[in-house]
Amino acid sequence: MTRRPTAWHTATVVDVRPETPTAKRLYLDVPTWPGNDAGAHLDLRLTAPDGYQASRSYSIASSGDGTRVVLAVDEVPDGEVSPFLVHDLRVGDEIEVHGPLGAFFVWTPPTDDDPRPVQLIAGGSGVVPLYAMAQAHAVAGDASEFRLLYSVRTPDDVFFRDEIAALAESRAVDLDLVFTRSSPPEASVPPARLTAERLRDAVVPAAHNPRVYVCGPTPFVEAVSRWLLDAGHRPGDIRTERFGGS
Ligand SMILES: Cc1cc2nc3c(=O)[nH]c(=O)nc-3n(C[C@H](O)[C@H](O)[C@H](O)COP(=O)(O)OP(=O)(O)OC[C@H]3O[C@@H](n4cnc5c(N)ncnc54)[C@H](O)[C@@H]3O)c2cc1C
Repeated sequence: MTRRPTAWHTATVVDVRPETPTAKRLYLDVPTWPGNDAGAHLDLRLTAPDGYQASRSYSIASSGDGTRVVLAVDEVPDGEVSPFLVHDLRVGDEIEVHGPLGAFFVWTPPTDDDPRPVQLIAGGSGVVPLYAMAQAHAVAGDASEFRLLYSVRTPDDVFFRDEIAALAESRAVDLDLVFTRSSPPEASVPPARLTAERLRDAVVPAAHNPRVYVCGPTPFVEAVSRWLLDAGHRPGDIRTERFGGS
């Protein structure tokens, strides 16, 4: 973990791209950004012309010392902030961001000679900080075993689809996608929700002493954490980040 000062910063939107049918990827230029470790998040604040303010947390898909910050925001229907970010934010707009935050839920390359395996478990947009960790692992040329178990509704809903496919192809990450509503034609199993049994078969066994990072909607994170404990993983080895929802 790198100690970095936390403050409010002015961010300029420099690009907005479709991420999934319901999400956008936002590229921000933040000249005063101190950099961030992989897995960190920030608080984003919007101010209306009448002075009304609303802020929400978003994971950072990028990491390192640069001043370019990448987010991926999924629209929560009827939400206050995410529909604005997905539909109304434009290149050139300025917003405020506070961070980097979340020193507990970060991954940095191990400094010892005996790197522990890393198991990443994502539900939906919860893959954002885990993608940052997988990417940082690849960029660092880190030799640790990295596995990503990613539960997502349909193939179109996969965040960072091309980037994650490239990480899997280069064997930087062992990828296991679980489709809950519809699978690609070539899939060998029909769509189904993640279960305790499926999880136990897919993850690095507890006996191999992995560090486990779990991120997604609150009910997903709570179910997965329970299953991991039942499978023998130690509480201190499981790090979680809850995105909300019930
Ligand atoms: C540390 C952290 C990191 C996060 N990172 C991301 C990220 O990278 N990408 C991303 O898209 N979101 C992320 N979130 C969720 C984000 O902060 C907001 O909660 C989300 O965008 C909804 O905000 P809203 O104002 O549109 O909805 P609100 O107006 O706050 O809520 C509207 C309704 O939706 C429910 N709700 C709120 N959040 C969720 C949710 N995530 N899923 C389902 N229902 C919800 C509420 O309970 C409420 O009923 C993160 C949350 C946390 C705590």
